[in-house]
Amino acid sequence: MQLLDGKKLSAEVKAEIKVEVDKIKANGGKTPHLAAILVGNNGASETYVASKIKSCEEIGFKSTLISLPDTTSEAELLSHIQDLNFDEDVDGFIVQLPLPAHISENTIMEAVAPEKDVDGFHPINVGRMCKGLPAYISATPYGILEMLERYKIETAGKHCVVVGRSQIVGLPMSILMQRNAYPGNCTVTICHSRTHNLKEVCQSADILIAALGRPEFITADYVKEGAVVIDVGITRVPDASKKSGFAIKGDVKFDEVAPKSGYITPVPGGVGLMTICGLLTNTLLSSKKAIYK
Ligand code: NDP
Repeated sequence: MQLLDGKKLSAEVKAEIKVEVDKIKANGGKTPHLAAILVGNNGASETYVASKIKSCEEIGFKSTLISLPDTTSEAELLSHIQDLNFDEDVDGFIVQLPLPAHISENTIMEAVAPEKDVDGFHPINVGRMCKGLPAYISATPYGILEMLERYKIETAGKHCVVVGRSQIVGLPMSILMQRNAYPGNCTVTICHSRTHNLKEVCQSADILIAALGRPEFITADYVKEGAVVIDVGITRVPDASKKSGFAIKGDVKFDEVAPKSGYITPVPGGVGLMTICGLLTNTLLSSKKAIYK
């Protein structure tokens, strides 16, 4: 079993981005600028946004955080989005999900200008990704591809099972794993809560990507000997032994699955850190006008 070490890889990716940013600045170029909008005070979202902002500081990006109360109306949020769409200094921005129930996430995703949509959630970026055109690839799938590539994991012809069909993780991941490129060229099965015989389907996976949001759901009996196991799940579960009162759990029961797997990502220290790298990479691409001229 080999650990897919998100901590080590993300440090590598960030160091590479920092070299580029230093060069841009040394040549008198504009500092890449990422903005984030956070609505309400969901504890997990606050933590994610804080670590995105901290990563920007580490690599020399400019960052802006717009924190709004959970009473913010959809119209008010749309107006902040418009401001960022037109702000020439901002290269890319994200609206942290989930949003309060009175705001439509689809409406919000569609309001972000595609050329600043560094989360890759806008239908234009999703459509371009499906067609294999230059696009912002959503950050979590991007981070997973980067992991597979940097660990030189063979993917062509493999059976990849993705558990979860969400717009932000499962669906784009399944599309990317079947594309005619590396990493990709897999035969892909996408599963969800209505899938029959989920365990048997998972057992046939050479590459198993768990993105269902059910802590420790994937146990050893779901996993084929030697499989590559990518755990996207991040769930806070109550844990009185922790100062915070909770522990972070993945979708995979790590202790029993790890000995059976060929490669596996830990939680924390796996996909989550690579997701931030995806966001930073997209912001750098935006500042270089590499996707949209
Ligand atoms: P969603 O809740 O949007 O989607 C979950 C998906 O899993 C759905 O398609 C659902 O099926 C499916 N599912 C749920 N229960 C089962 C089950 N028992 N059997 C089979 N399929 C099931 O979640 P997200 O995709 O947004 O996130 C998934 C997990 O990944 C969460 O823990 C989240 O916190 C984490 N996450 C981690 C990130 C990272 O950076 N590491 C980034 C984003 C998310 P159906 O469609 O039928 O309801």
